[in-house]
Amino acid sequence: MLIDNHSHLDFPQFDSDRKEVIERAKKQGILIINSGLGPEGIEKTIKLVDEHGIFATLGLSPTGFDSDIIEDTIELIKKYRKKIVGIGEVGLDYYWVKEPGKRMTEIQNFRIFIELSKELNLPLLVHSRDAESDTIRELKSANKPAILHCFSGTIKQAKEAISIGCLISIPTTIIHSKQKQELARKIPLDRIVLETDAPYLSPVPKTRNESANVKLSAKKIAEIKGIEYSVVERITTENAGKFFNLKI
Ligand SMILES: [Zn+2]
Repeated sequence: MLIDNHSHLDFPQFDSDRKEVIERAKKQGILIINSGLGPEGIEKTIKLVDEHGIFATLGLSPTGFDSDIIEDTIELIKKYRKKIVGIGEVGLDYYWVKEPGKRMTEIQNFRIFIELSKELNLPLLVHSRDAESDTIRELKSANKPAILHCFSGTIKQAKEAISIGCLISIPTTIIHSKQKQELARKIPLDRIVLETDAPYLSPVPKTRNESANVKLSAKKIAEIKGIEYSVVERITTENAGKFFNLKI
């Protein structure tokens, strides 16, 4: 069994064959956690939870600034509290947002979701792009460890995040990304979890990604670390399972 701790199977890229994609993963013993973003993504994701028995985290893209959307998202997260395993993705994106004022707004919104995760006692899954030091500082000051999805920071930053209890999520781009391969080499296995971020971050650039591909990451990590595939499978599954309190 493997866990794809972060995917977006509710996205339109899967409209024609969503069921097949989910079945393909299930058949290979891959457990899916779908991340539903914003009011629309949340409703679609809850439908997938009800229809296919997959797991879900609910959140909002860091670049969603509209305060109505933030309020609606929070309301829906509270409404579906019992159907979900975590809050996310939420976080900071400095790649798309350059203006200091807007970055400050992102930080304020991030704090709102960190507090919500504490209030609802739910694990947190964080998106951080070109914003690692601010992200880690916020988590540290809130004393809230998180999964850092598609971690793009340095090894030093990854170790700092680990020191406050975070897990580092390695995406399927590890097949071709030197940075992700280096992370897998330097980060202890008991701090690593696996994700696809499907339809994005494909092992084959410019193609649609899907949850079944998480297997390729596990194979690659085994090869990089010079350990058995079954060890990567067992430990990463344990890591994600414990973090999200999954009954598996
Ligand atoms: Zn994502």
